[in-house]
Amino acid sequence: QEKDYQMMLRTRSPGGFIPPELYLALDCISDDYGNHTIRATTRQGFQLHGILKKNLKASLAAIVRNMGNTLGACGDVNRNVMAPPAPFRNRPDYQYAYAYSHTIADLLTPQTGAYYEIWLDGEKFISAEENPEVIAARQKNGTGTIVHDNPEPIYGTHYMPRKFKISVTVPGDNSVDLYSQDVSLVVLTNEQGELEGFNVFAGGGLGRTHNKEETFPRLADEIGYVAKDDVYSLVKAIVATQRDYGDRTDRRHARMKYLIEDWGVDKFRAKVEEYFGKSIEPFKPLPEFKYLDFLGWHEQGDGKLFVGISVENGRVKNEGAFQLKTALREIVETFNLPMLVTPSQNLILYEIDPAQKSEIQQILTRCGIKREDEIDTLLRYSMACPALPTCGLATAESERVIPTILERIRALLIKVGLPDESLIIRMTGCPNGCARPYLAELGFVGNGPDTYQMWLGACPNQTRLSRAYVEKLHIDDLETFLEPLFVYFKQSRTDRESFGDFCDRVGFDALRQFVSDYQSE
Ligand code: SF4
Repeated sequence: QEKDYQMMLRTRSPGGFIPPELYLALDCISDDYGNHTIRATTRQGFQLHGILKKNLKASLAAIVRNMGNTLGACGDVNRNVMAPPAPFRNRPDYQYAYAYSHTIADLLTPQTGAYYEIWLDGEKFISAEENPEVIAARQKNGTGTIVHDNPEPIYGTHYMPRKFKISVTVPGDNSVDLYSQDVSLVVLTNEQGELEGFNVFAGGGLGRTHNKEETFPRLADEIGYVAKDDVYSLVKAIVATQRDYGDRTDRRHARMKYLIEDWGVDKFRAKVEEYFGKSIEPFKPLPEFKYLDFLGWHEQGDGKLFVGISVENGRVKNEGAFQLKTALREIVETFNLPMLVTPSQNLILYEIDPAQKSEIQQILTRCGIKREDEIDTLLRYSMACPALPTCGLATAESERVIPTILERIRALLIKVGLPDESLIIRMTGCPNGCARPYLAELGFVGNGPDTYQMWLGACPNQTRLSRAYVEKLHIDDLETFLEPLFVYFKQSRTDRESFGDFCDRVGFDALRQFVSDYQSE
């Protein structure tokens, strides 16, 4: 008899869009076949854990029949395309970013019919990408739809050397962690709000392997500017360059970041231009990026409202007085609202009539869901990957331990006289870096049972990488490790300087010297 293999299912949800039918289907599947929870991911999809192999087909079929899809959410293809999760109807740039996250996802969707043959016996149902709202958004923004005339015109016979990640954002909004992506596009509009083109970044990626210096996290480089009519050609040219020149002999060296690192940006750009058939224009100036999470109640700009709900580690569940799963089901069922999964594992319900606001807020309050101003900022801005027990790559805990770790860090900040301080904390159970710890001001990267490599020095808007400060910290030693760092920070920070900026400014030698002096006092 075959073992009860458990699987993880992950939705492909460009821009984080989850239609109400799909959310309700995921809720049912998690109860019927899963572990009764739904998990928002850092790439704006949902994951279901604990699906037995024998229930995979029924689960996948239910997702596809309810306007969802999992095709391309995993594997050596383009993964879920990210976009800022703010449904601002009066901001054309946000609307373009959302629309292009869908059209680029379409452009790079594997065309194989095997997915539907295997999971749906050949039937093809309407999917979320074909949702009337998405089509309307595209038409409104003039982005059209993508038509393929070749069975696998971009991936060819061998697909990509490794996974490939794309985001689309607007100037100033780094909610998508744009520097961590293989390709990021920044929407550029004219003064009338009409789309002109995109700034293009390429070569980001965070995954690495412990004790293998040749693997490292890397920020995306500025590649140039492309006019709107050429953007699909340029994206295809970048994908083709990685497809044809990415390393297919060593999976640890196969992401596009290594190709760009090995070649240098100029050689990479020149090769992309060969596929593109023209020169890439110079990068245009951009304002400083900010990290935005869109929690709380906001106006959409068209008379309707949206509400961002903080979801601790993205886990939608019921536990004691905390009944988030019940609340979301009731709200989505009652008001038929669509949802956006955010890049920081939170959720946004939108298209809310102002008359519905108080009833929705009452449901959230009744179900124990805290408002954004009731949440400790350490928790609000933290992320943890699932790790144990559901991820086979995990060597240390992450999601299950981060709540107590944040409490310990808050207690320590209070002890050293920084009671209201906040910093970006991210934790993963292995160096693969799914929760993007190398862009956190304090990054925990699992390095054995109860042990973490500690990364310091990134900045609050995630535009600078952190660096490994300690190779192995047993979690019992957390306070001993952090206390001198926080004391030094309190004594020597400049006005309003963040912890990450402070660590980067003073440097690791000065940090180590202070820690040594502090511990010998
Ligand atoms: Fe698993 Fe590692 Fe990703 Fe965490 S970071 S979910 S442990 S692969």
